Amino acid sequence: MGTRQGVYIDGAWSDGGGADELTIRSSADGTVVGVITAAAEQQVDAAVRAAAAAFPGWSATPVAVRTAALRAIADGVESRTEELAALSSHEVGTTIAISRAIQVGLALQVLRSTADAMDALELTEDCGQFMVEREPVGVVAAITPWNFPLHQIVAKLAPAIASGCTIVVKPAELSSLSAVALFDIIDSVGLPTGVANLVCGTGPVVGEALVMHPLVDMVSFTGSTRAGTRIGELAMRDVKKVSLELGGKSATVILDDADLGRAVNVSLGSCYTNNGQMCAALTRLIVQRSQLAEVEELLAKAVAKFTPGDPFADGTRLGPLASETQRDRVIGYIESGIAEGARVLAGGPERPDGAGYFVQPTIFTDVTSGMTIAQEEIFGPVLVVIPVDSEQEALDVANDSAFGLSGAVWSADRDRAIAFARRIRTGQVAINGGAFNASAPFGGYKKSGIGRELGRHGLEEFFEFKALLV
Ligand code: NAD
Repeated sequence: MGTRQGVYIDGAWSDGGGADELTIRSSADGTVVGVITAAAEQQVDAAVRAAAAAFPGWSATPVAVRTAALRAIADGVESRTEELAALSSHEVGTTIAISRAIQVGLALQVLRSTADAMDALELTEDCGQFMVEREPVGVVAAITPWNFPLHQIVAKLAPAIASGCTIVVKPAELSSLSAVALFDIIDSVGLPTGVANLVCGTGPVVGEALVMHPLVDMVSFTGSTRAGTRIGELAMRDVKKVSLELGGKSATVILDDADLGRAVNVSLGSCYTNNGQMCAALTRLIVQRSQLAEVEELLAKAVAKFTPGDPFADGTRLGPLASETQRDRVIGYIESGIAEGARVLAGGPERPDGAGYFVQPTIFTDVTSGMTIAQEEIFGPVLVVIPVDSEQEALDVANDSAFGLSGAVWSADRDRAIAFARRIRTGQVAINGGAFNASAPFGGYKKSGIGRELGRHGLEEFFEFKALLV
């Protein structure tokens, strides 16, 4: 693949004018799979102006036309599943089966379920003495991370388009090829020009110019807590509406009456999904000390199925990480776990064979909650097992985190698990392996963010509420 234009403004592709070109390498072997031209600051300005000019027309367009556009984008994505799945596997290292099922499949679900949620949403609410009108926020600046390249964009683009907002997307540097492919599809469905625009480029240059643009009404960001904090500060200078989906360090709690075999297998699988590159990954496993030996035995058996391998080979369950930087960062965390006295049950810092950015699937046990590996987001295939002596201590450890994005509880007694889940300060909790749902609100407490994405609750973020006092 050669050089692709990374700027799409007012319905037309153009060359970037930025100093940067983004070189995208395959996580499987480090070869260059594409080069994207980056936007210059004047192009960020042109993109925002195009979105602002398109807003009056798009916000007045009937809901049925807007949701039909989303469904057409979904059909376009579906028809290019193989190509898009392969791009995600190159950019992120996702195994090809998971790329088809989640990288592409989840984006499809979000496009279609957002269209359904919008069709069902009441825009005028009669509250007796007053009415509440939902009006689209305006121009949305969307900044996204690389771990789910399509989904992260779609989780912002779908509610923006559905609600009547217009949008400028700045995708992650590492996954700009997927963003360009998605905008090829958007281009093909014939949205009015200016409704959806793309500016590829780096965070500090293109991202910051976008966040600070005076015609942007809302900033919707997904990424690290570090970048989210900076973006929040910049957006607040103009009191822009902000939605932040940030990092996580989510806990699974196995209560003493749970089906240990199932709980352990699902927990490890969840921690290693997308090779551990997932904000909602369940990376802390909290177990009763009396059951620790049995849990360790089950984990040792389960981890043997996760041999790192070529993400494009059938049957591979653990692919490489997205980049050399990510790999080195994860290995640094594994070394810190050893240095702080955690016991290695599986894996370790030694690099597996292969040209890709591989890390060994690693499990630490005898971890205490204060250790770095129990507190910081690692973003790789590293599980930490924290033994506790009571249900109360399990809850205290689960809540002993700066983050609060996701979680899981296991118990033979569903009501007991739900009661426990209510006491965890986090945005989502899976009960006995409850599956991810693209219509359930997703987002964090504490340093995991502000606001929610997905489903009706996510859609509501893209509206202003106007009270009419009658
Ligand atoms: P990152 O914060 O480095 O980058 C995310 C995006 O922000 C990129 O597009 C980047 O270019 C841009 N950016 C960086 N600095 C910026 C700045 N100063 N101004 C404007 N834009 C800037 O994150 P990443 O490495 O791409 O992704 C990994 C992180 O994302 C992890 O911390 C993970 O937990 C988080 N994440 C959160 C969620 C969620 O929904 N809560 C989902 C996925 C990933």
